[in-house]
Amino acid sequence: MGSHHHHHHHGSKNILIAFFLNAGFAVIELIGGYLTNSVAIYSDALHDFGDSLALLFSYFAEKLSHKSADEKYTFGYRRFSMLSALVNGIILLSGSVFVIFEAFKRIMSPEEVAPEGMLGLAVLGILVNSFAAYRLSKDDGTNTKMVMLHLLEDLLGWIAVFIVSIVLLFKPWFVLDSILSILISLMILRGVYKNLIKIGFIFLQKFPDELEFEKLKKEIVQLDLVKDIHAIKGWSIDDSTFYLRFHVLVPKQTTIEKIDVLKAQIKEVLKEYKVQHSTVEFESEGGCDDVQ
Ligand SMILES: [Zn+2]
Repeated sequence: MGSHHHHHHHGSKNILIAFFLNAGFAVIELIGGYLTNSVAIYSDALHDFGDSLALLFSYFAEKLSHKSADEKYTFGYRRFSMLSALVNGIILLSGSVFVIFEAFKRIMSPEEVAPEGMLGLAVLGILVNSFAAYRLSKDDGTNTKMVMLHLLEDLLGWIAVFIVSIVLLFKPWFVLDSILSILISLMILRGVYKNLIKIGFIFLQKFPDELEFEKLKKEIVQLDLVKDIHAIKGWSIDDSTFYLRFHVLVPKQTTIEKIDVLKAQIKEVLKEYKVQHSTVEFESEGGCDDVQ
């Protein structure tokens, strides 16, 4: 086994460590939410619970995605990560709706919360997230920027809890806790919405935006010998593995040698568009019945 295998092992180990840290913190928040009676803390607990679940799923997805295609799954196993993201989205969606519902009930009849405990949790949350962001800033992985943005979002949530708990130490405006809880839940829902849209497009076999239909088509039609291309179908397994198939109409009596050259040129174009898998059918007669 080469260094690639080692790197993969290293990556999934980091995911597992991040999972345990997140899940541990979510449990602390859940207990904290119960002790302080704060719905804002509950929404943060839900946020971290969702993050840990996503990490756990991506740990298994990472293992599965390295499994190559077989007779049962000829497209490989990468779409399992989309399925787990869908499950995660549904859990976060129902959790957020539940928390927002509870927060609205609190606005109608406010309940007392313990600002000292909230302040303690906020300080802990700020420290943990800053430390994670600091450690990550030394890393230069591919999705580091995404994780960094997420950590900053978490940090922002804790700073808001920090400010609210300071205000509550001096004024009994308990409604602030409910309002903050709704804001945090809306932030969670915004992330869920973006994810579900992405997953929906993939499950509906939408033509990937990355492949730029018109531009790609124009580039191929401009190649020598190409009279027309049709039956273009593009799709994605996850959001980074792209498939494309289409028919190419060439002049009659084009030799197989010339077609081989054309095929190499087409593959060269497809490489620029990050298409990893393609199927091209060549035909010299018009009136193909697969025109759509
Ligand atoms: Zn055709």
